[in-house]
Amino acid sequence: MDKRQAVDLAYLVCAITFIIGLKRLSSPRTAVRGNQVAAFGMVLAIGVTLWDADARDLAWIIAGIVIGGVIGAYSARAVKMTAMPQMVALFNGVGGGAAALISISEYHDRIGLATDPATSFLISTLFSAIVGGVSFAGSMIAFGKLQEVISGSPVTVPGQKAVNAVNFIAIVVLAVYLAAGNESEGVLVLAVALSLLLGVSLVMAIGGADMPVVISLLNSFTGLAAAATGFTLHNNLLIIAGTLVGASGALLTQMMSRAMNRSLANVVFGAFGTGSGTAVVGPAGAQGTVRSASADDVAVMLGYARRVVIVPGYGLAVAQAQHVVRELADQLERKGVDVRYAIHPVAGRMPGHMNVLLAEADVPYTQLYEMDEINAEFPRTDVSLVVGANDVVNPAAKNTPGSPIYGMPVLNVDQSQAVVVLKRSMNTGFAGIDNELFTDPKTTMLFGDAKESLANLVTSVKNV
Ligand code: NDP
Repeated sequence: MDKRQAVDLAYLVCAITFIIGLKRLSSPRTAVRGNQVAAFGMVLAIGVTLWDADARDLAWIIAGIVIGGVIGAYSARAVKMTAMPQMVALFNGVGGGAAALISISEYHDRIGLATDPATSFLISTLFSAIVGGVSFAGSMIAFGKLQEVISGSPVTVPGQKAVNAVNFIAIVVLAVYLAAGNESEGVLVLAVALSLLLGVSLVMAIGGADMPVVISLLNSFTGLAAAATGFTLHNNLLIIAGTLVGASGALLTQMMSRAMNRSLANVVFGAFGTGSGTAVVGPAGAQGTVRSASADDVAVMLGYARRVVIVPGYGLAVAQAQHVVRELADQLERKGVDVRYAIHPVAGRMPGHMNVLLAEADVPYTQLYEMDEINAEFPRTDVSLVVGANDVVNPAAKNTPGSPIYGMPVLNVDQSQAVVVLKRSMNTGFAGIDNELFTDPKTTMLFGDAKESLANLVTSVKNV
């Protein structure tokens, strides 16, 4: 076996580990092992690439790996769970930017030689430079919005869609010009600059609430750009890995849009999610009376219930109350209460946010119910305990046609016999809209930090 064959064989093994890793990531039970398998594949891929690399470039590559590795490892350890979406946006953007830079560098090396570059080389290089550029710029804006460095509101100017369309056409014209064999680094740089502008303009126009869908879409773009770079570099593993990222990003985007009951076009062009805190008043009683109670009162409701459904939301993550919510659930189970957790697909600030938090507290997977499974159970639920969730239980999504979240599937907690909401104030959630659930006569508010309120409930339930 010569070196080329050995490299290809090793790449095949890496590709298999990536596929196994992805498959295992689809269930919380196998996700950790899946991550380890894929990480092993990535280490092997890096090792083989170094072995295969031109010795003159090794020092540069190793320096890049060390700097990137230190930054990546530090950020992964230091990042707060609540800031994970912006980190994903940042790392995704860096991937798109890397694909664009490699393409520009490959184009620079290839033009001006005696033989003309092949059309296939030109197409893959241009695709990766342009799509990578859109992904980089878009991801940086998504990062800025989630980190609140820039406003989360959709920023639109009159005629923006027309300008975007003209920009897109200009990029295509420049790409066709270069793909036809006209050599010009200046034109390539102009095309990449326009693609950066397109990424900024597209994502600026989207509200903060839609950032998870946007990041997932841009993730798909980065995967496709990386796959195209694989064609440019004749690297089979990059083609496979990029395609896997592209496909999984596209599938996740589709699933999230479906969970919000919106089309992808509506997410990208709908300027949804003001993030401005403006209240949209529901049709009935959204400004009615709010009933609040003490932990002791709520403990009595919970202690005498047959079934309690816990609905975690972003506030659970902020309060880091995952361990104490588990304590409360254990306490209730000891009293014979049937306890379940209702998981909304976009609760929190990233896909799977609640699953990750509850897994950290060793909540059994059998107690977690997806929205579709649990929604039919609410009429048979004595108490729904909403912990730091707001938008995902807002009945306006069903009852208020003018509401920005109208049409988004929500957890039907309003159908349960009683609702208890744990939050600090009457403040709105991510979408910035009022929640008529809080003034529903069957709702009781327990104001305070979720961790403190839950700790008080644990103590009080013991005495019931
Ligand atoms: P929301 O953002 O709607 O509401 C969270 C609530 O938690 C707030 O109303 C806040 O009220 C309360 N809260 C905050 N801190 C605490 C605390 N320490 N103790 C108790 N309560 C607290 O969260 P949801 O999970 O219901 O909905 C998620 C929203 O985020 C959706 O609009 C979704 O589209 C969007 N989104 C989802 C992402 C994802 O992928 N999951 C990513 C990005 C956005 P108060 O201040 O009064 O305490």
